[in-house]
Amino acid sequence: MRPIICDHGLMRRINRVRILNLLRLQDSLSRIELTRETGLDGKTVTNLTHELLAKRLIISDGYETSSGGRRPELLRLNSNLKHTIGIYLDPNKIIGVMVDLKGNILKEKVFPLFKISKRKYILSGIKKIAQSLIACTTRSRLLGLGFVFPGIIDRDKETIIQSSNLPALEGIRIKEYLKEYFRKHFPLSVEIEDSSRAMALGEKWFGRAQGIDNFVFIDLGVGIGCAILSRSQLHYGVSLSAGELGHTVVDINGPRCRCGHKGCLETVASSRKILEKISGKGRKEEQKIIADAGYYIGVGVSNLVNLLNPSHLIIGGELSLVGETLFKAIDRAMKKYTVPSSYNAVQVIQAAFGEKGGALGAATLILKKVFELKELE
Ligand SMILES: [Zn+2]
Repeated sequence: MRPIICDHGLMRRINRVRILNLLRLQDSLSRIELTRETGLDGKTVTNLTHELLAKRLIISDGYETSSGGRRPELLRLNSNLKHTIGIYLDPNKIIGVMVDLKGNILKEKVFPLFKISKRKYILSGIKKIAQSLIACTTRSRLLGLGFVFPGIIDRDKETIIQSSNLPALEGIRIKEYLKEYFRKHFPLSVEIEDSSRAMALGEKWFGRAQGIDNFVFIDLGVGIGCAILSRSQLHYGVSLSAGELGHTVVDINGPRCRCGHKGCLETVASSRKILEKISGKGRKEEQKIIADAGYYIGVGVSNLVNLLNPSHLIIGGELSLVGETLFKAIDRAMKKYTVPSSYNAVQVIQAAFGEKGGALGAATLILKKVFELKELE
């Protein structure tokens, strides 16, 4: 009989990561609580926490208050031990953040962009932001850099295929470019993703979508995109362009869109359009413009909800910050155009991270790998 091969090393890593994840989600836990939560035996938990303490990944957080007997020691994640950088390329600016292991933003940098920004200028902005954030930490503490932007990526060649709002970057092998640039200083792990999808991951790991497995993230920015998470997995589509909510048609006789069609959602509700329209207007007129845009967004979103029947819609991006008027208008349209059973089942939530969602999502690309299994050394 062939012996059963059991990979103890792998099991230990999996269990170590389980403990780290529990401590990531809680402030602090005792070994007894970790034993209960993981279902592992006490001795294994003692050994694993011993290893994690030795690596300084977890630290003591004092003792539990108890009515009598020995008070159990509390353990917490040493979240400041490692840092991750996230960079979000928005058509108007580059936002960079440095976060700890719990996704807390420790530093933030912004670099302005303009409609006419050339490739060289954009790339120098990305490098400047990255350098200034790298200077805030040390090489041994830095886990990697995530970079996100609105567009379609060829996942094999890691090339930007299309970015309607940032055409200057089309055709560039962005991951290789960044890796090569940092290699001059030190090798750095780099991950890239479309910004709407990254925002959805940021919300899933650190924001309002924690514990939610089927949701759609709506990104109301200069472009309007969405990310579909089904059973906690991102949906890309066969040609990687799933989620082009901005180019769903809400008015067949509407204005011409930059994609060539007429009446796309983006032509009536992109943040750039709305912010341009409301500038210099009085409060009443401003609210009307926002409500009109919200209604159109609600029409687009209704189509999406009718197709996908998600449990939650997380609404983020620049325009989501205008608040209640927008959300009320979205709801009004949804009530009218969504199938009742889907409307009753879906919960609409404002995203947690607002303008920083893209950069935090970028950092999540690296953090996610760490907490999914990859060893933290
Ligand atoms: Zn369009």
